[in-house]
Amino acid sequence: MLKLILFGPPSAGKGTQAQRLSKKYGIPQIATGDLLRAAVAKKTPLGMKIGSYLDSGRLCPDDLIVQLMFDRISKSDCANGYIMDGFPRTMGQVEELDKVTEIDLVLNIVVELEALVERAVGRRICGECAAVYHVKFSPPKAEGVCDECGSALVQRDDDKEHTVRNRLRIYTEETAPLVEHFRRKGNIIDIDGSAGIDGVFDQMVEAIERREG
Ligand code: AMP
Repeated sequence: MLKLILFGPPSAGKGTQAQRLSKKYGIPQIATGDLLRAAVAKKTPLGMKIGSYLDSGRLCPDDLIVQLMFDRISKSDCANGYIMDGFPRTMGQVEELDKVTEIDLVLNIVVELEALVERAVGRRICGECAAVYHVKFSPPKAEGVCDECGSALVQRDDDKEHTVRNRLRIYTEETAPLVEHFRRKGNIIDIDGSAGIDGVFDQMVEAIERREG
């Protein structure tokens, strides 16, 4: 059983690392942002409510996110653990999480916020298979086309610069304070987020194996 939280500001690389950790340890990546975007795309009742939050970069209401997340972690593929990516993001969310489970490890990606603006603005994702690229740091083989499935790459609306800055401000105000909560619990490890994709991954694996060993 391995229950992880990938923590850090938006665009710190949580999604990229979560995908790799998911493959290595055989546990699902649960990205609240992806679950929410899927609900919007399908125009479910939930999707109708939350579209405007996503476009503006504001946080969705806690009760809704907590419900979405708890439904997801009760699915059978989570029996051996999971990687939370983008949750919890507020004190209210972490308090609810503490009531239902003990997380083994919080991997806290530490990065300069200004570097993140460049990262986010250059990010492109596959509309079909959700693979992640960057126009400068991790370009696809053919511009605008997914290496994995050949579909078109797109820029998320919430990766536009003014939205990115808004999200970073919200992170600083509402999400960053959770670090103190995790430190009190003693299950958080800082990861140097400037180390490149492989370097960050290696630090995470080392932290997980140290914890398990
Ligand atoms: P992400 O892909 O993780 O950056 O999430 C995209 C957007 O989804 C955020 O800007 C929020 O509007 C919403 N969102 C994702 N996770 C949460 C969460 N844990 N709490 C509230 N809103 C969230």
